[in-house]
Amino acid sequence: MSTPEPSVFSRIVAREIPAEIVFESDDVIAIRDIAPKAPVHLLVIPKTEQYRDVAELAAGDPALLAELVRVAQQLADEQSDGEFRLVFNTGERAGQTVFHVHAHVLGGHLPEGSLA
Ligand code: 5GP
Repeated sequence: MSTPEPSVFSRIVAREIPAEIVFESDDVIAIRDIAPKAPVHLLVIPKTEQYRDVAELAAGDPALLAELVRVAQQLADEQSDGEFRLVFNTGERAGQTVFHVHAHVLGGHLPEGSLA
């Protein structure tokens, strides 16, 4: 069986694809989304691509999920007013396009009531 291709986010971690990196630790990287849906739109991503979505991550490594939330708050404090929407698209029909778990951090002036 052939090895699956690395995800776009693993390629960003490996510096094979450029991205604006706004945070990096041993386990987590955060980048600015290439197609922002809010004034501040960041992606907080575990470096491992072993978890496809947030449900797998919660089951497999709850501490790493908590770390994603901690980093989201830190970045919202640094880059916006500390308030943010955290979105995990989970599954293709829910809009997930990259099957390497990632949190969308949306901040700035969000449209009222929108779930964008
Ligand atoms: P999903 O649709 O899986 O929830 O989110 C994937 C996100 O990754 C999208 O918002 C998309 O704009 C972003 N994205 C996809 N490819 C790249 C890339 O090469 N660089 C950056 N910075 N963001 C990307």
